[in-house]
Amino acid sequence: MTSASEVTQHLGALRERLARVGGDRVQVVAVTKGFGPEAVVAAVGAGLMDVGENYAQELLAKADGVSEELDAEFRPRWHFIGRLQRNKIRKIAHLVDLWQSVDRIEAAVEIARRAPGARVLVQVDVAGIGERGGCPPTDTARLVTGCQRAGLEVAGLMAVGEPGPPESARPGFRLLAAQAADLGLSELSMGMSGDIEIAVEEGATMVRVGTALFGPRPR
Ligand SMILES: *Cc1c(COP(=O)(O)O)cnc(C)c1O
Repeated sequence: MTSASEVTQHLGALRERLARVGGDRVQVVAVTKGFGPEAVVAAVGAGLMDVGENYAQELLAKADGVSEELDAEFRPRWHFIGRLQRNKIRKIAHLVDLWQSVDRIEAAVEIARRAPGARVLVQVDVAGIGERGGCPPTDTARLVTGCQRAGLEVAGLMAVGEPGPPESARPGFRLLAAQAADLGLSELSMGMSGDIEIAVEEGATMVRVGTALFGPRPR
């Protein structure tokens, strides 16, 4: 069971971790994958209005559950952070506020078709781990241009850090920050529960945090 007071307490600890490395103003996206709608309600109760989901089906079910629990002005902004499939994009296009995981032009074109002018981040596979998504760093500039030509608003870049000890994520985060600077993009979504300090030190503007807010995922 995830309560707002528990999440509030965890958020306090998280804000302290962020503040220690100068990240007082970093935006926290609460990642609720694997948890039920009650985690979203708890996050909103703790003041976290930005919520990240990895799976279209889960997002749809949770958005439904949440709309029964929360008045319209307290509904979260949904960030989609998982692998993008064309048929799924259509189903969630009306809900997503920021598409964080655009890593192929086909996905960008489909988002532009279903949600013209949508805000997106281009996900880059800075760690070279393939299965977590992201375009190869050599394709970043081309994909950003492709998204813009499709009419999307590219706000910045996103990456999942290299797994292992937190420090091992640093070179990838540094590369992502350098690419964003080269392309004149301001948002840098990088850092998860284990490596937010490294991400903030390398310039993250947004961190995506699940377990540090909600505890271990049930599945
Ligand atoms: C699950 C997930 C997160 C959150 O991970 P935690 O380690 O639970 O903080 C962040 N970003 C992405 C893309 C994820 O899939």
